[in-house]
Amino acid sequence: MAEVILYDTTLRDGAQMEGIGYSVEDKLRITRKLDELGIHYVEGGWPGSNPKDAEYFQRVKGLPLGHARVVAFSSTRRANMKVEDDPNVLALRDAGTEIVTLVGKSWDLHVNHILETTLEENLAMITDSISYLKAQGKTVFYDAEHLFDGFKANPEYAIATVKAAAAAGASCIILCDTNGGAIPSDVAFVVRRMQAAVNVPLGIHAHNDGELAVANSLAAVQAGVVQVQGTINGYGERCGNANLCSLIANLKLKLGIHCVSDAQLAQLTEVSRYVSEIANMVPNGYQPYVGASAFTHKAGLHASAIAKVEESYQHIPPETVGNIKRVLVSELAGRSNILYKAREMGLDLPLQGDEARQILELIKEKESQGFQYEGAEASFELLLRRGRAGYQPPFELVDFLVVVEKRRRLPQGASGEEALAEATVKVRVDGETVLTAAEGNGPVNALDDALRKGLLQFYPQLSVIKLVDYKVRIIDEASGTGAKVRVLIESTDGQSRWRTVGSSTNIIEASWLALADSLEYWLLRHRTG
Ligand SMILES: [Zn+2]
Repeated sequence: MAEVILYDTTLRDGAQMEGIGYSVEDKLRITRKLDELGIHYVEGGWPGSNPKDAEYFQRVKGLPLGHARVVAFSSTRRANMKVEDDPNVLALRDAGTEIVTLVGKSWDLHVNHILETTLEENLAMITDSISYLKAQGKTVFYDAEHLFDGFKANPEYAIATVKAAAAAGASCIILCDTNGGAIPSDVAFVVRRMQAAVNVPLGIHAHNDGELAVANSLAAVQAGVVQVQGTINGYGERCGNANLCSLIANLKLKLGIHCVSDAQLAQLTEVSRYVSEIANMVPNGYQPYVGASAFTHKAGLHASAIAKVEESYQHIPPETVGNIKRVLVSELAGRSNILYKAREMGLDLPLQGDEARQILELIKEKESQGFQYEGAEASFELLLRRGRAGYQPPFELVDFLVVVEKRRRLPQGASGEEALAEATVKVRVDGETVLTAAEGNGPVNALDDALRKGLLQFYPQLSVIKLVDYKVRIIDEASGTGAKVRVLIESTDGQSRWRTVGSSTNIIEASWLALADSLEYWLLRHRTG
């Protein structure tokens, strides 16, 4: 089996993405994670460019890594300067890594108009910088920046730069599609031309401006490159870099090329979410292989098919990349989604044909009122149970009253104003109606307290339940303050978590419905006798 070496630049190129900034601590945590995933080289940053990266290289030396090797990055020496005087090259030399990556120019346009030097001087910059670092005992990777654009503009010169890097002793020459505009057939063609020109292993570094970074990287691998560069989740400048999550999965599962072990591949989803967490980026649910929706089935036809044969609507088994299959319940769903979901919840509901259809009708009606069950499995389970003949709810809501006041409070000389809420709740349990009241710092809090107070008389075990998340979403925003509001809450009893939903034009009523569902759900699950 062929093998490809993975080179991750999440911490350098990936940090160039709009909205991303890592602390040194973040970078160390990601380094460790990349090591666990089986990445061969981790590009840690540009030690000459900022103190944070310099500190990273200092501290990463103490990190126990099993497999990955940390690489420092910089550019070739400046024009008309001695290499041993260039502060960037010196910072690279002193970064404490065995391997360094140097980026240099391949495109005559950049040499003439951006560096504003001569084509000869640029070749000397490449040669001097690599030779110098080699003489310091370093292994040098050479990033040929804009190689594909350079080749288009002036193929002889682009080849000359690569030859200079090879002659100076680069251990791997990485062909970079820096502007991200290449297409796979061109990439394959240029890779072969470079293979004919030099006898050094080649790599690929692709950007995603044409949404082809992964495709271009795979084309390069098929043409013979041995090193692939990219970032977790495709983070990077502009539209990002080649997404290593997709690349690793495609290399292993589609091309049969070894790069990580099967066990490491099964960590891919977790690594993707871990990095998005640290980067403080919302995980992309639609990301291939690792996104929450990558193996999610919404259409009724699909759900009924995968219940029979899993692979009928999935290109790979989701667990190979550590992801899971989900079946959604929504107004688009068919009867089979409902049955599948009920089974998945371990509900012994032998729904008759008619019952499933009625439940489907009910879901459609609820969704038109703003409910959504995709993220609220507990409310969905209640909906199923309530739809069955003979269902006995553990309690019933009769009504509630909430008063919110901005009140002046002056206890013992304190000054200031605070908003205060009072809730009165009426619930019925086993034919008995109780009325309770509670105060809170907000209406939802007061309502929650009053409801519990009432129910605790009958169900003292409810005291373990806590609210852990409360989200409000405005639906049909166009109608302004008259819009419907959907409230999604997450609760825990210290062991499991469940989510419930409520919807109304009134935020307090929506909260009330979601809160009541949460308690009812728990009681049903823990009903004794
Ligand atoms: Zn780049």
